[in-house]
Amino acid sequence: MTEKKYNWMNTISLSLTFVLACTVVPWYGMKYGFTGFEWTVFGFFMVFTGTGITVGYHRLWSHKTYEANALFQSWFAFWGAVAAQNSIIAWSRDHRDHHKFVDNNDKDPYSAKKGFWFSHILWIFQDTRTDKDYGNVKDLLANKICVFQEKYYMPILVVGNFILPVAIGYIGHVLDPHPNGMIHSMIAMFLVAGLLRFVLNHHFTFFINSLAHIWGAQPYAKKDTSRDNFFLALVTYGEGYHNFHHTFQSDYRNGVRAWQFDPSKWIIWTGSKLGMTSKLKRMQKWQINHKRQEFWGVQSLEAAMEQLKTKDTPELKSKLETTYEEWKQALEAWTAARRKSKTCQDSKSQVGDLQTALLAKRDEFCAAVNSIFVNPHSAPALG
Ligand SMILES: [Zn+2]
Ligand SMILES: [Zn+2]
Repeated sequence: MTEKKYNWMNTISLSLTFVLACTVVPWYGMKYGFTGFEWTVFGFFMVFTGTGITVGYHRLWSHKTYEANALFQSWFAFWGAVAAQNSIIAWSRDHRDHHKFVDNNDKDPYSAKKGFWFSHILWIFQDTRTDKDYGNVKDLLANKICVFQEKYYMPILVVGNFILPVAIGYIGHVLDPHPNGMIHSMIAMFLVAGLLRFVLNHHFTFFINSLAHIWGAQPYAKKDTSRDNFFLALVTYGEGYHNFHHTFQSDYRNGVRAWQFDPSKWIIWTGSKLGMTSKLKRMQKWQINHKRQEFWGVQSLEAAMEQLKTKDTPELKSKLETTYEEWKQALEAWTAARRKSKTCQDSKSQVGDLQTALLAKRDEFCAAVNSIFVNPHSAPALG
């Protein structure tokens, strides 16, 4: 699997399209210009192919965070193929391995530990998957839409990236003739909705494997390199909240808070209201909260202990450990009551009291930490 060889088809096609998008598209734009209609179609193609990957490839097929009817699946299977990032089955196989073996340079297909360029694009240039093991996607091999898409992947790719933009360019010319003639309507549409969109969509998705493992915050866990990054969420339809996603990969949401930008979540949720998607998996609030609080406590304790490492202050150390343990117990009691509160009236009435006790214990732990140093990890709010 680690044997290094190059997939020349991937290397040449991705490099060539990138160079052409950076040269021919701006040259053509300056010489002939692009119309509002062409940019509008470009926008639709960006969203359709981008969400083909996020709503379809990633959250539906790779992680099975919800179920969808045949129409919904077919739409995202088509646009996912147009995004030209491999078939659903191959993409999901790699992605499931990415989660299972994250940061393992031998087993994670795009391990961020191998550096930005490897996780961004070199892993695609280097044909690292010499095995033909599809053991982790048996469910997808039994899905007729996934199998059909695998079989007709290349024809769909050609239709969506070349024939469809050119055809829309032709129709656009008939409806609203281009000043430079019909040929230019078709060329211009191909250049923006085909070529430029193809390259931008590639690199925006690739940023999740590279930048979202390098740049951003880690509010949930540091067990791997994944990060939450608002700016990446903007160009990836919500996939930038990657630390949350690696912590709770079965949740159909990546931006879990109401104010976080996650259009993929909104599409899946809207689909459920229209009867097209179902069984949307959500982590419970108490689970997410518990994870954040617990992670903050461990980070604070470790940072304070680090400060005390070279100092002979057993009473401070003891105070720190005692207040941490008491806070941890209060957190567990509060979480347990919240977990049971949906079905048990007694637990429901206990939640308020336990929360007050938890906040008091947190204050004591914070005071112990702050007596040693100014803690950079501010406590997350209880939600
Ligand atoms: Zn994932
Ligand atoms: Zn990742």
